[in-house]
Amino acid sequence: MLKTRMVAIDKDNPKPQLIDVAAKIIRAGGLVAFPTETVYGLGGNAMDEEAAAKIYAAKGRPQDNPLIVHIHHIKELEDIAEEVPPGADRLMKIFWPGPLTILFRKKPEVPSGTTAGLDTVAVRMPDHRIALELIKSAGVPIAAPSANISGRPSPTCARDVLEDLDGRIDMILDGGTCPVGVESTVLDLSGPVPLILRPGGLPKEELEKVLGHVELDPGLLPGQKPRSPGQKYRHYAPRARMTLVEGPVERQVAEIIDLAAKLESSGRKVGIMATAQTRQRYPVGTVISVGDRKAPLTISSNLFSILRKFDRLGVDEILAEGISKEGLGLAVMNRLYKAAGYNIIKV
Ligand code: AMP
Ligand code: MG
Repeated sequence: MLKTRMVAIDKDNPKPQLIDVAAKIIRAGGLVAFPTETVYGLGGNAMDEEAAAKIYAAKGRPQDNPLIVHIHHIKELEDIAEEVPPGADRLMKIFWPGPLTILFRKKPEVPSGTTAGLDTVAVRMPDHRIALELIKSAGVPIAAPSANISGRPSPTCARDVLEDLDGRIDMILDGGTCPVGVESTVLDLSGPVPLILRPGGLPKEELEKVLGHVELDPGLLPGQKPRSPGQKYRHYAPRARMTLVEGPVERQVAEIIDLAAKLESSGRKVGIMATAQTRQRYPVGTVISVGDRKAPLTISSNLFSILRKFDRLGVDEILAEGISKEGLGLAVMNRLYKAAGYNIIKV
């Protein structure tokens, strides 16, 4: 058991001494959780096989689920990527730093532990000052999956990291909450059409403005085989049983009221994940609004913390409303499908 040290750090003006302590831990092969604009990352030296192994062990992450490598400057890509696929240059100029992860053919120097044996490496540049300064100060690219126990909702604040990883990692940099709240979009440019392997913080529509047509990996549909190893696992899951209700909003509300009443009368404690537009409508259950349907960023940024909140409240059942799949809504719905284990009611 490690002693996990948690320190507060100002995201707009991070103290160099604190960055330096964290960077030293990374260089020595240890693990540091840090904030990014998407979710908290669990960072280790991406070029160190043993550090990668420690990340898998701390998270209980399946061995075949590769890590995303984080860089602070485009120059660092030369050390890890064999070549830059067509279109990637423009995307990096426009969207980095930001919630876009791109696949590259990996250099032999990148340990196979980091990429779970694949010959590609996933890379992004986070849009967060603490993350960028940590990577720069460490002097190595940092492999950083979400800083949660595998399968649990991703952490969007330091308390959520501590809840899962206390005693399993060396340090947590507490830089406040993560503004986007869902993980990065993972993009594969190796085929004839750009393919989204995981919808995320950068909307498909934004990529299409630059690349023209972009497809979503058909393997992301329930029961299919996704191309990105991580997408096949049950994920983001609260402890409560979760049901997602999809369809026109009015019918969602009616269905959830009905379900909640039935569940409560059979003795189950029910949590309802509503939206700003519907929160007043429910006569039963513990109702929490996840955000405003007209502003999906309010929803993505709250999503994981509310799943954890329902667990802390001890509900047995979560009934969640579906939202539009436009913009960030696609990533939100992908997380909700998985959190619900594809337990979906269409109304
Ligand atoms: P996490 O860091 O926990 O957000 O998960 C990283 C995601 O990126 C997982 O879904 C991985 O499967 C995906 N990923 C990372 N590297 C690769 C790769 N080389 N090829 C395909 N998907 C990848
Ligand atoms: Mg994750």
